[in-house]
Amino acid sequence: MRKSAVSDDVTLCQTCRNVPVTEFLSLGAQPACEFPEDHEVAESERTWPLDLGFCSQCSLVQLMEPVSERILFSGEYHHLAGLTKGFREHLKTLADELAAQQDPDPRCRRVIEIGSNDGSLLDALAERGFDVLGVDPCGSVSPNGSPVVTEYFGSKVAQRLMSDHRPANMVVATNVFAHVTNLHDVLDGLCTIMEPDGMFVSESHYLPELLRSLQYDFAYHEHSRYYSLTALQYVLEMHGLEVFHVEIVDTHGGSIRVYAGFQGAHEVRESVTELRREEDAQKLTDEATYREFAARVKDHRVRFRHLLKELASDGSRIAGASCPARAVTLLNYCSLGPADIDFVSEISPLKIGRLFPGVHLPVISQEELCGPEQPDYVVLFSWHILEELSSRLREEGFRGKFIVPLPEPRVLTEA
Ligand SMILES: [Zn+2]
Repeated sequence: MRKSAVSDDVTLCQTCRNVPVTEFLSLGAQPACEFPEDHEVAESERTWPLDLGFCSQCSLVQLMEPVSERILFSGEYHHLAGLTKGFREHLKTLADELAAQQDPDPRCRRVIEIGSNDGSLLDALAERGFDVLGVDPCGSVSPNGSPVVTEYFGSKVAQRLMSDHRPANMVVATNVFAHVTNLHDVLDGLCTIMEPDGMFVSESHYLPELLRSLQYDFAYHEHSRYYSLTALQYVLEMHGLEVFHVEIVDTHGGSIRVYAGFQGAHEVRESVTELRREEDAQKLTDEATYREFAARVKDHRVRFRHLLKELASDGSRIAGASCPARAVTLLNYCSLGPADIDFVSEISPLKIGRLFPGVHLPVISQEELCGPEQPDYVVLFSWHILEELSSRLREEGFRGKFIVPLPEPRVLTEA
């Protein structure tokens, strides 16, 4: 947490550094997305306040007290989490898109990926003729052998890389801007490793979409920043970078993909002006927009709790399906524990048999959920992939009803 020199009560903007941030929504004390083995371990579980703030200078929405990524990413789950099938498909499409944007000359296809995770995108790019290199603190050599430097990327690592490698024609960072502790140092490093006419491509979840569909459950400690194009342009411009193309993609319930280069290196496309016009109309630079969002979130909490209590009033049993990180925020913010929800199902063997973070619901297997002792209702926590999840549970033999938590809490009416 950055504190002002004048007062300890002031949080300063992670982008502007000297501008105070205004808190607009408190989601309470929230744990990390780590599943305690048993009740004894659960007793020593740590929580941190999850409060959202807004900077009126750069429009960045951010956590008031970000927790260091070195603390959050120290657990076993983040190393072994892997990627979903849908996300792997998305990375292949992204690789096709990047291949189409880049000069076909093999001498101009050097790419560095910051936060290369398990190497899926690196391999897909290598297959498309790129000379690839990944940097990731939890990474290792990818399944197809693409090289990865196991480090937190920043200006020092960038300088070291440049003693062994030539600058990249393309630098890619997907879902990195939301959680890195020192974004300015990452951007300094980026400027060191990119050719003067190079292209930087980043993907982050898209704040206006989160606001529109009330995705407050997408706020968790791993995400210390939430971006609009307006906020991204501001921070990139601080480092002499300019956004020249932008796309909105479906990933993670709505993401923004920006293409940037050094100031003046690329012609700025109409997509940038158009999206800025849209964002201006949505008043993203106005604090009132966020106060109104917070009021909708508080109202949702009341209505969601009310729906569950009403459904349980005739003795019906309610469970939850799947344990994405967003379920941690939702259940803890709405204070829904064993008195309201019997258990949560999961397919990952790393979570089955453990306790759900914070509210400590038992985590059971999906087979058990769909077995003879089925609950009457299940809450679909991954509601952004509603159809995929509900049909999977039907195929497994679940006969009860589905509850959709957001944006409007409701029992799903099926065709
Ligand atoms: Zn700011």
